[in-house]
Amino acid sequence: MNILEVFNSFQTQEQAIEYLERIRWRGRPVCPYCNSESVHRHASGDRAMMRWQCQGCTRAFAATVGTIFHGTHVELRQWFLLIALMLNAKKSASACQIARDLGMRRPTVWSMMHRVRVAMANDPQQTKLLYGIVEADETYIGGKPRKPNRRDNDKPNKRGRGTKKTAVIGVVERGGRVIARPAKPGELSTKGLSKFINKFVDNAGTLVITDEFGGYRHVNKSQLHATVNHAVEYANGLVHTNTIEGFWSLVKRAGYGQHHHACFKYNLRNQPNEFRTALDVMVAA
Ligand SMILES: [Zn+2]
Repeated sequence: MNILEVFNSFQTQEQAIEYLERIRWRGRPVCPYCNSESVHRHASGDRAMMRWQCQGCTRAFAATVGTIFHGTHVELRQWFLLIALMLNAKKSASACQIARDLGMRRPTVWSMMHRVRVAMANDPQQTKLLYGIVEADETYIGGKPRKPNRRDNDKPNKRGRGTKKTAVIGVVERGGRVIARPAKPGELSTKGLSKFINKFVDNAGTLVITDEFGGYRHVNKSQLHATVNHAVEYANGLVHTNTIEGFWSLVKRAGYGQHHHACFKYNLRNQPNEFRTALDVMVAA
């Protein structure tokens, strides 16, 4: 759904709540406090909140309880519009722009966007291992490169390795999903990179492709490993890292701190309804 479709589909709070109830409960409402299924619509007649009453624990609840939408004074349809704007943004959407678009206060929009990003990071898709042809790489984002000093002259930097920029490591399955995050201290070591790859990449029947960075030299202990020597060629048939490099340029355009969002958007690119898939993640989180 694009922003206009979201706007048209959810003209009232009631429509938005009904949609969330369908996605969350698929026709079988459950009490979020005690998991009882003996629940009925709250008798208050407060249609705007669409509350339910649990007979198990006697508490009243709405479909938003336990989701990122709970405990805010923001209408659910505003949340939906914000998510649609975030998904539709070519790069990353700025809080200022969305605040203008929705006519809301900037701090409110900022904290809503933060909640959405945190929920996106819990994407259950990210827990499945990548397999097939998988490209692994690291890149450096943000900050100014360090001024050269004597030590740097002794050890020339290669594509930012050894600079003060923030390192991000990632693996992408060709034709599939990407997993990327900032590297933890020491994670760019041979041991760290192997551990990262083993955590996210299946080791049976997977070909891992990297450049010739020495940090990847132990990959072949767990997976088939092929390298492309960027000094002499960009690709050798199937052996290239163009897919992950394409993803890095996406992250770089979006800016540092946006890697969750960039992964999420990349992994949704073949979904017929990004908005629906995003909401599925939000209510599962
Ligand atoms: Zn209950």
